[in-house]
Amino acid sequence: MKSESNQLQAFVAGDAFESLLRGRSWPATDEVLHRLDQLGLSVLVQRQRCAIPTPPTLLDIDWIRSQLTTSIELQYDFVVESTNRLALAHGGVKPAVYLAEFQAQGRGRSGRQWISPFGANLMLSFVRQLNLGVTDLAGLSLAIGSRLVGCLRSKGVKGLTLKWPNDLLVDGHKTAGILIEIDVVSPAKVCVVVGIGLNVEACPEPGDIGQTASKLRMATELSRSELAAIVINELSEALADFEDQGLEPILKSWSQVDGFIGQSVRVVQNEESVFGKNLGIDERGNLLLQTADGLRAFSVGDVSLRANAGATS
Ligand code: ATP
Repeated sequence: MKSESNQLQAFVAGDAFESLLRGRSWPATDEVLHRLDQLGLSVLVQRQRCAIPTPPTLLDIDWIRSQLTTSIELQYDFVVESTNRLALAHGGVKPAVYLAEFQAQGRGRSGRQWISPFGANLMLSFVRQLNLGVTDLAGLSLAIGSRLVGCLRSKGVKGLTLKWPNDLLVDGHKTAGILIEIDVVSPAKVCVVVGIGLNVEACPEPGDIGQTASKLRMATELSRSELAAIVINELSEALADFEDQGLEPILKSWSQVDGFIGQSVRVVQNEESVFGKNLGIDERGNLLLQTADGLRAFSVGDVSLRANAGATS
């Protein structure tokens, strides 16, 4: 018996989906409607036939490949379980990027889910090896996030900030998540996977994720393919720079990207909240919070930062 994601992969490789993507209608069987629902696509049903009212514009992989500034393998799929999982299996001896139009099991930190409909957003994982030990990787997600914010701002994306440790926000709402996973190759070499889920055309409803999300389309006219090329090139440079210089260059510019600097915030850890003023980060990327009990530092671990809505300062 095929797994659900194998069945979904078979569906997106079949005639029904090809026709629907071309804007044609197809018999509205339970199976077809179920698969389109799983892919998060809205469907129009009329006289027992269905259609996708606005079929997504797929990523232009050949064009993206032509824009890459260094030699990177690029693998593109319609449906995968998770791009991070594929990238981890690759091992990163040569840098590679996995891109997908849909993840059947998109993941965030601590096994949380990443939700994104087929063909609307960007989901990619960059894998390469770094000549660093595991302890040298403290702050890598901050370095990546900070570089992406800087780079996208330089391309005209408006209202973009970073929420420590790993979220990109547009107008204060979550637009992208970064999930870093590592495999130890030797004491001085790691395989690093940087997974990015970036909302471009669509974002989930607050009722589905417990927070208000946003999308880049509110902030830029760049296409998904343009954004993919920009993000891949920046990740490539950011990882090389991190291998050479660590977090040092990021520390100087942190206050320009941190969307909550100097603000009253709440840090949620093990379902408990700690309130304080966000003073930025220390040299290892720990969050510094001025609390009523003094200065506290929080490591990246499983900690979430929230605006302290009720605060006056
Ligand atoms: P938090 O967002 O609470 O700070 P986190 O940084 O640990 O948590 P991630 O690992 O980046 O979270 O992403 C998983 C979380 O993001 C989910 O629990 C859900 O709340 C939210 N989420 C899932 N899909 C999306 C999406 N497409 N856009 C914005 N947020 C999403």
